[in-house]
Amino acid sequence: MFHRGSHGGAGRTAVGCRIALAGACLVLSGCRGPGGPAYEQSYMSPPAREVERPRPGPARYTPLAGRSEEVELGRSVQGRPISCQVFGQGPETILIMAGIHGSEPAGTSLVRELAGYLVRHPELLDGRRIILLPEANPDGLVAGRRFNVRGVDLNRNFPASNFAAVSRHGPRPLSEPESRLLDSLLEQHRPTRIVSLHQPLNCIDWDGPADRLAAAMAADCDLPLRKLGAQPGSLGSYAGNMLGIPIVTVELPGSASRLSPAELWARYGRMLLAAVVFDERENAAKPALRGLPPAGLLPAQAR
Ligand SMILES: [Zn+2]
Repeated sequence: MFHRGSHGGAGRTAVGCRIALAGACLVLSGCRGPGGPAYEQSYMSPPAREVERPRPGPARYTPLAGRSEEVELGRSVQGRPISCQVFGQGPETILIMAGIHGSEPAGTSLVRELAGYLVRHPELLDGRRIILLPEANPDGLVAGRRFNVRGVDLNRNFPASNFAAVSRHGPRPLSEPESRLLDSLLEQHRPTRIVSLHQPLNCIDWDGPADRLAAAMAADCDLPLRKLGAQPGSLGSYAGNMLGIPIVTVELPGSASRLSPAELWARYGRMLLAAVVFDERENAAKPALRGLPPAGLLPAQAR
């Protein structure tokens, strides 16, 4: 279920606030199940009635041009918010996420850099909705541990056909709140493609029909393409092989944890932008990126 968070973006006007509030109502009308308690009700007045809700589709989010919406998906085991930032609208929905393994923090910084870049380059949002999820496992990130606070590897807890019920994978698929939130996100918003950032294997891996997407991303960084194989109960196995969503797993090197956000962006920003602008029909990520400097050379002022 989605809970409405605060607005992102700059230059908001009073009129913009009212329009955005209307947009928030649209978002909430897309929630499944009973309305969340105080949080939603304090935001909407009067509280939303229970109605027959259509299955949400890609058009449910309508952030205003040049702005983003912060959306709280739910809470971790320890009660930390798990939030995504949604940019743009359009037929394509691109999910870019990081931090499902709490001991792999570089991706989280990189996704935050991408958020800043999208604010400064709204032209990239044309025809696209981009959902950024920088901290899929916030408890693990705080603790610096791969697992969630119950010791479960969230990236082995998805209901893929190869789920393996060992203790580190959880007693059953989606036994953990963090993996359930992600599953709801996939179900409700049906991403066109997914990028999930990890460490430290130093390669670009993919699952499902993502070979061309993976190649386009690898062409814009120094990470080699490498098929690691389907991991049991992983997001790649579930989203890629079962749901048929192209998904690329970016394995940054372990040393990426020592890079500053600016250095991470300079080295890997263009790779993420290649995923944003990728066009399956034409396999034509390159033309959309014309005018940007090559990988590794994104200057600070262009970030
Ligand atoms: Zn990982």
